[in-house]
Amino acid sequence: MTFENDWHPETKLVHGGTSRSQFGETSEAMYLTQGFVYETAEAAEARFKGDEDGYVYSRYGNPTVSMFQERMCLLEGAEDARATASGMAAVTAAIGCQVEHGDHIVAAHALFGSCRWVVEKLMPKYGVECTLVDGKNLNAWKAAVKPNTKVFFLESPTNPTLELVDIKAVADLAHENGAKLVVDNVFATPLYQHPLKLGADIVVYSATKHIDGQGRCLGGIILADKEWINENLHDYYRHTGPSLSPFNAWTLLKGLETLSVRVDRQTDTAEKIATALNGQKKVSKMIYPGLDSHAQFDLAQRQMRRGSTLLAFELAGGKQEAFEFINKLEVVSISNNLGDAKSLITHPATTTHKNLAKDERISVGITDGLVRLSVGLEAADDLIEDIDRALG
Ligand SMILES: *Cc1c(COP(=O)(O)O)cnc(C)c1O
Repeated sequence: MTFENDWHPETKLVHGGTSRSQFGETSEAMYLTQGFVYETAEAAEARFKGDEDGYVYSRYGNPTVSMFQERMCLLEGAEDARATASGMAAVTAAIGCQVEHGDHIVAAHALFGSCRWVVEKLMPKYGVECTLVDGKNLNAWKAAVKPNTKVFFLESPTNPTLELVDIKAVADLAHENGAKLVVDNVFATPLYQHPLKLGADIVVYSATKHIDGQGRCLGGIILADKEWINENLHDYYRHTGPSLSPFNAWTLLKGLETLSVRVDRQTDTAEKIATALNGQKKVSKMIYPGLDSHAQFDLAQRQMRRGSTLLAFELAGGKQEAFEFINKLEVVSISNNLGDAKSLITHPATTTHKNLAKDERISVGITDGLVRLSVGLEAADDLIEDIDRALG
């Protein structure tokens, strides 16, 4: 259905990829099945050979999972995709499927904790070395390239300090050196940043975050062109088994239907909170890509549509003041998750990033006073009042 490509994102989110059964159901059908049956032995043979289209086993593919993949492809402008059981399954497969012993990865050092573990700790066990660089510094990327560099990996905005990486510039550099660029686009969401259009080769998401957006299930997805998927991911995905469950795919399809309404509203509120707190006495630093006080505001304007739903700020009083503030919040809950309908706050230094050595942690901007706020769907005024009161 080529006309689907011409729809606006909101329409793609509601209708994209829907494949109705013979019953004509309104809502997408949930195919909770492991396997599929064949009319004849010949039909089974043809399907295994690839001469006939159709499903063979839900580890390889499933109709509900396919609907989720197609909807995401439309949204992202990608040719093909594979959905995974979690965001980390997506990251690990997207990187692991394209490297082999002797290859080299360059990654930005400000990464989601588990992503950093995959490139820094897991990959070297298989003989794949990794160099971590300051993602903001293009010269650092250049200097890190080696003849065996196969993959560049980054997230932008970064977790939790909301720094940006110039995706187009890094993509160009990757291509000049025969490497592929993988972008983890969770923070920007599929609505506000399109890494493939900026030159990235592969985009990954934790669908656990805004795509579900209601705190229910884990999921992930890898999107790229058909050729890359066929040559790199297709067999890896089938045989290592990171596949998404059809139940979770269905939940994520329902999440996508409301994605733009939720993310736009959450972003409106994030902007209001960022503006209200910018310059507040106890807040020594406010980081929000949608504010012109952001150190990379020009880049944000160029590669993101809006600042998105997360903000980070530093309390002048360090860990003690950060803890006191967090403990006093009544509407905002303490949780390391993000992208939820409920506003969630976390203290990265003692939770998500506690495994970083202190000097490394400080060098990526995760100070003792830094908190990260994921803005939910509550009334902006209630959130601002809650935060003001907790700041006391
Ligand atoms: C949450 C997250 C992940 C991991 O996703 P899971 O679904 O929790 O496995 C990866 N990258 C980023 C940027 C994330 O926020």
